[in-house]
Amino acid sequence: METCKRCNRQLKTVKSIDVGYGPTCKKKQDEADAEFLRIQITMEEELEYQKKVKR
Ligand SMILES: [Zn+2]
Repeated sequence: METCKRCNRQLKTVKSIDVGYGPTCKKKQDEADAEFLRIQITMEEELEYQKKVKR
């Protein structure tokens, strides 16, 4: 039995089992990933800025 990695509910479709999340959780996970990526980019830009300022 395959369960959702996020909410641990049973996954009913092959597609859900394939991605590891139910449809709702997949959407939420994608949003969380996008947000994480956005923060990552911001941090990298910040680090670049800090390097420039130090010189
Ligand atoms: Zn779920």
